[in-house]
Amino acid sequence: MTTAPLELFAIDTLVDEESRAIAETVRRFGEDRLRPDVADWFESADIPARELARELGALGVLGMHLEGYGCTGSSATAYGLACLELEAVDSGLRSLVSVQGSLAMFAIWRFGSEEQKQEWLPRMAAGEASGCFGLTEPDVGSDPGAMRTRAKQDGDDWVLHGSKMWITNGSVADVAVVWAQTDDGVRGFVVPTDTPGFTAHTLKQKLSLRASVTSELALDGVRLPASAMLPGARGLSGPLACLNEARFGIVFGAVGAARDCLETAIAYAGDRHLFGRPLSGFQLTQAKIADMSLEVGKAALLALHLGRLKDAGQITPAQVSVGKLNNVREAIAVARECRTILGAAGITGEYPILRHANNLESVLTYEGTSEVHQLVIGKELTGEAAFR
Ligand SMILES: Cc1cc2nc3c(=O)[nH]c(=O)nc-3n(C[C@H](O)[C@H](O)[C@H](O)COP(=O)(O)OP(=O)(O)OC[C@H]3O[C@@H](n4cnc5c(N)ncnc54)[C@H](O)[C@@H]3O)c2cc1C
Repeated sequence: MTTAPLELFAIDTLVDEESRAIAETVRRFGEDRLRPDVADWFESADIPARELARELGALGVLGMHLEGYGCTGSSATAYGLACLELEAVDSGLRSLVSVQGSLAMFAIWRFGSEEQKQEWLPRMAAGEASGCFGLTEPDVGSDPGAMRTRAKQDGDDWVLHGSKMWITNGSVADVAVVWAQTDDGVRGFVVPTDTPGFTAHTLKQKLSLRASVTSELALDGVRLPASAMLPGARGLSGPLACLNEARFGIVFGAVGAARDCLETAIAYAGDRHLFGRPLSGFQLTQAKIADMSLEVGKAALLALHLGRLKDAGQITPAQVSVGKLNNVREAIAVARECRTILGAAGITGEYPILRHANNLESVLTYEGTSEVHQLVIGKELTGEAAFR
């Protein structure tokens, strides 16, 4: 009789029945539908993104924390737990859901016109239309205020020139939320991807997040009507609000990846016999497992605490940074340590651990790098902004 790592912390007692049921449904979908294929998707760097979007839409997880327009209107905590269960399978699959719901849909839901919401949100919630979010550029990542993509007014129209880099779902998207400089500061635009001048190509040779589409977008004189601008977003606070939503999902998601690594390593250590007994019976192995369970449990507690704060409308961006920095950093450390328990078997795709570790390198970087979150927390604690 053994206890699972998160059972040790009685995590379930902190989760209401409805959120627990949602998490269980997503966990079953992950195990039955995603896990059997995910190693192949990762190896071939080819995922059936559109098909999966429709299935995830039917499951109700796309934009699930948003109200109205075909969205489920779940709690932030339930959304976080769904991210946890998806990332327990693969960070790339959680990324698909995060980008659709927390970046593309959230931008339209929070800052869009009624017409934009009616046009896109119901189809995006159902997974019939896919969205992407274009902020990062080839020369501009952590400092989005320096972006070069420009939108110029021409009569009533807007004309966009520039490029966006590292864009999740870019080449499978029907709509791109694109951020660009205007004479009035940074503004967001809702760009149907069949607009002339818009092209996207999938980036190759990724060694991380291979079960996810990552693309470069080119905007070469993309002409849009005035109604394509997001009316409610002015300046960088618009995209930063969206990133804050997506980071919140990562706080939970990283726990899922770490939990999966630890459960895999514990099971392996129980089956693997060395020097005449199970690897799990050696004190060094137990020290590793015990220490890792503390980090995974603490990360889950932190995620749930932040979930409650968000549900109460009290969470601050610096608190989200605390969760993202801690949970992703600890998840990577757990993945690497778990890999050692599997020895050579740990480097194969037969087990999920090195896939998680590789994926978490991307998770450490996107939605604000770990250094940027250190600087956000540093500013909060000292009052000094070190990144400017
Ligand atoms: C798989 C993947 C998917 C992505 N998906 C999207 C997406 O859908 N949409 C989107 O817009 N972007 C996306 N990104 C881009 C991601 O958000 C950026 O990579 C990230 O913001 C970092 O930017 P950069 O890579 O240009 O690194 P840089 O900003 O060039 O940073 C390089 C290094 O400098 C450090 N650094 C930066 N500022 C400071 C400072 N002030 N002091 C000290 N060190 C500093 C960074 O922490 C990092 O270590 C994705 C990235 C990846 C890898």
